[in-house]
Amino acid sequence: MDLRIGVIGTGAIGQEHIQRLNHKTQGAHVVAISDINKEKATLLAKEIGAKFYETGEALIADPEVDAVVVTSWDPTHEQYVLEAIKHNKYVFCEKPLATDSEGCRRIVDAEVANGKKLVQVGFMRRYDRGYMELKEVIENRQLGEPLLLHCAHRNPTVDKNYETPMAIINTAIHEIDALRWLLQEDYVSVQVILPKQTSYTHEKLHDPQMVILETKSGIHIDLEVFVNCQFGYDIKCVVVCETGEISLEDPSYTRVKAKGKDYTTVSPDWQSRFMDAYDEEFQLWIHSIQADAITGPTAWDGYVASITMVACGVARESGERVAISLDSCPTLYQA
Ligand code: NAD
Repeated sequence: MDLRIGVIGTGAIGQEHIQRLNHKTQGAHVVAISDINKEKATLLAKEIGAKFYETGEALIADPEVDAVVVTSWDPTHEQYVLEAIKHNKYVFCEKPLATDSEGCRRIVDAEVANGKKLVQVGFMRRYDRGYMELKEVIENRQLGEPLLLHCAHRNPTVDKNYETPMAIINTAIHEIDALRWLLQEDYVSVQVILPKQTSYTHEKLHDPQMVILETKSGIHIDLEVFVNCQFGYDIKCVVVCETGEISLEDPSYTRVKAKGKDYTTVSPDWQSRFMDAYDEEFQLWIHSIQADAITGPTAWDGYVASITMVACGVARESGERVAISLDSCPTLYQA
């Protein structure tokens, strides 16, 4: 029988995930939705044949909802994830898990007290084919030990509400999780450099920024976050190893040769760049619920990302290299 999913927060990505669950993935469909924008959500509920709930809590409590997807605004994630744990229900939460490390820690503690992994965080880079191939080469030590990573996260433009800290909290968060997963190593320190700025930014946003991370074994990662690069959505990850180098290719299905040029296009946005990764993320989430064992990014991963982001903020303000220290990982999350 299909899993019956409830979605809390039916804005941009909530609607994309509803489409994905109802039309792209197998084994689940959306039976319930909730959003504070009642008017819009009631119409949507009618359109997709789901039940509308006045509150996320009521949706979670319904015995006819097997698992929950949280795609509401960031400050509401923690309350809904905690509520789902209270009802012993699987919950997929879009990043960030909570708006601060204390909130992430409360979720980790609640899950540990409940004794079962129920939470998956929406770090979908882990499901991108390119990252998966990089991981295989790194894990097999095919090119020897990884030594250095050169990465970039570039957006064509951002709006005026996007300010300096968001380069870490909204953008670099994806690399912070994906690179730690790729290397299977925690970070020990971070430095943030604020270089010469693009004229396309505004006074509340320092753009670009450079984040320099160091892992436990001494691997150095330089990550450029440049959110007004003008030319497209561009993700880079070059892994330099002892006997070779491996890097992400921008996925492309066609190549143009004309007027003396030979080129492929750059993705315009994150939706098109990572479309397949989102589909895979949800298909595997459904499979893992059916198998009663979550395999994706955990609440602990959400907590570690949050601690790292706090250190990045301190490093940006101080200009110094800042240590990243973690509590010991609860046994529930140890492989
Ligand atoms: P959005 O503003 O389009 O949608 C958010 C929706 O949540 C709105 O419809 C709003 O009315 C609703 N909402 C707010 N408070 C609520 C509450 N208390 N209960 C129920 N509904 C509530 O935003 P979005 O772009 O869809 O982003 C939603 C979340 O997804 C954010 O946390 C964002 O960080 C995350 N996100 C993740 C990725 C990714 O790549 N993994 C991409 C985009 C967005």
